[in-house]
Amino acid sequence: MDTPFKTIIEPFRIKSVEPIRFTTRAERAALLTAAGYNPFLLRAEHVLIDLLTDSGTGAMSKHQWAGMMRGDESYAGADSFYRFEAAVRDITGLKHILPTHQGRAAERVLFGTVVNAGDIVPSNTHFDTTRANIEARGASALDLPVPEGRQPALRAPFKGNMDLAALERCLAENPGRVPLVMLTITNNSGGGQPVSLANLRGARDLCRRFGVPLFLDCCRFAENAWFIKQREPEWAAVTPLEIARAMFACADGATMSAKKDGMANIGGFLALNDDGWAERAKNNLILTEGFPTYGGLAGYDLEALAVGFYEALDEDYLRYRIRSIEYLGEQLTAAGVPIVQPTGGHAVYIDAKAMLPHLPPGEYPAWALSCALYLEGGVRGVEIGSVMFGRQPDGTEKPAAMELVRLAFPRRVYTQSHVDYLAEVIRHVHARRERLRGLRMVHAPAVLRHFTARFEALGGGLMT
Ligand SMILES: *Cc1c(COP(=O)(O)O)cnc(C)c1O
Repeated sequence: MDTPFKTIIEPFRIKSVEPIRFTTRAERAALLTAAGYNPFLLRAEHVLIDLLTDSGTGAMSKHQWAGMMRGDESYAGADSFYRFEAAVRDITGLKHILPTHQGRAAERVLFGTVVNAGDIVPSNTHFDTTRANIEARGASALDLPVPEGRQPALRAPFKGNMDLAALERCLAENPGRVPLVMLTITNNSGGGQPVSLANLRGARDLCRRFGVPLFLDCCRFAENAWFIKQREPEWAAVTPLEIARAMFACADGATMSAKKDGMANIGGFLALNDDGWAERAKNNLILTEGFPTYGGLAGYDLEALAVGFYEALDEDYLRYRIRSIEYLGEQLTAAGVPIVQPTGGHAVYIDAKAMLPHLPPGEYPAWALSCALYLEGGVRGVEIGSVMFGRQPDGTEKPAAMELVRLAFPRRVYTQSHVDYLAEVIRHVHARRERLRGLRMVHAPAVLRHFTARFEALGGGLMT
C-alpha cells in the first residue's frame, strides 16, 4: 500500500449495529452451571464477545445485501445459481459445481458417493465434521500433518502442510484403499495454519503418481492465499485471486463451507472435475439437499455468496483480518500466555496444556479454560482438545495431540477495542491460572460429543 501510515484500520465503516449485552460474573457463574459447563449450551444473548466460531457469523457487505434483493427463487435453473456457479468456477476452475447448505453437507455427499467401509482418507488434518463423515462410512480418517504442525510454540511459515513422505508411504502401502486425499486449507484443527503452494503441488504430484484424486477442504482458501502471498517469495507480487486459482489448479475437487471465506451466513459447495463422480454426487445431493441448482440454499443465499467469494479475496480486507488476529497474538505473547505460534488465519489458539500443567488431559484443561474465559469476561471460545477429539471410533479414550482453546474471529464484526478487551480478559485469567480446576464429563453422546456433552467442576468449582 502506498501510504506513510502504519496503523491498519478496519477497511469498512458500520452501517447497521447490533447491540451486545453485558452480564455480571455472578450471572455468568449461574448460567455456566445451568449449561453443564458447555459453552455450546449457553444462549448467545448471555455472551459478550462470541468467538465460538468464524463460521456463518460474519457481517455481510452492502453489495451482498443488494445481491440478495435480486435473488431468483426459481426451483430449477435460477439466475442466482448461474451467478454462483460462474463465481466458483472463475476462482476454482473446477468443472461441476454443486451448491450445498454448508460444508458438512458437501462432505457427506462426497464421501457418501466415493468412500466405502475399510477405505483410508488421508489429510493434513481432518476437521471434526470431515472426520465424522468419513468414519460414518466405516472408513478411517488419517491425519498426516508435518511434525512442526504439532509443536504449538514453534514458529514456522507453513505449519499446516501435509507430511508428504508420510502420504507417499500411505499411498504405497494401501493400493486400492485410498479413494481420495484431502488437504484442509487453512488447517483449522491444526491452528489455522496455512499450506504452501509448494506443499500443495507436492501433494498433487504424489496423487497423480498413484492415480488418486486430490480434494481441497477449502473453507479458508482466501486466507490461505494471503499467507502464500506473504510467506512464499515467488508469490509476493501475485494477487490473492491468482494465488487461489493456482491452489485450485492442483486439485481434482473441493468441499467448501462458504460460511467461512464465502463471507455469508450459510452455504457451501462440492466442486469436482470427474464426470462420473459428479453424476453420482448429484443424485446423492438430491436425496437430502435439493435440486442441483440450489442444493439446500435460497436463491438469495447463492447471490450473497457469488459476491462474497470475491470480497474474501480483497487485499485490504485480508490485511486487516490477518492483522487483527496477529495483534491479539502479540498482546498475549507479551503477557506470557502460551499460544500456537505464529497466529493463523482465523483464530488465536491458546495452548492450555502449556498454560495449565496442573490439569491432566482427563480433566480437560482446554475445556476448563474456555469455561473460565466465559466466567471471567463473558468471552466464548471453543475447546479443540480431548473433548473434541479424545474419543476413538472404537469407544476408547485417548488424549488429543494438543489441548487448545480457539478464539475464532467472525469476519468484519469486531473492532480493535473488542480485541483490546479480549486481551485484558485473557491476561486476567492467565494471572489466576493456578486457581483453575478441571472438569468431569457426566454426559457424553457418541458422535461429535463436544456439542452436547455436560460436565461438573472438580475440586469445588471452576475457579477456586
Ligand atoms: C467449518 C468447516 C467444515 C464444515 O463446514 P460446516 O459449514 O460447518 O458444515 C469443514 N472443514 C473445515 C476446515 C471447516 O472449518
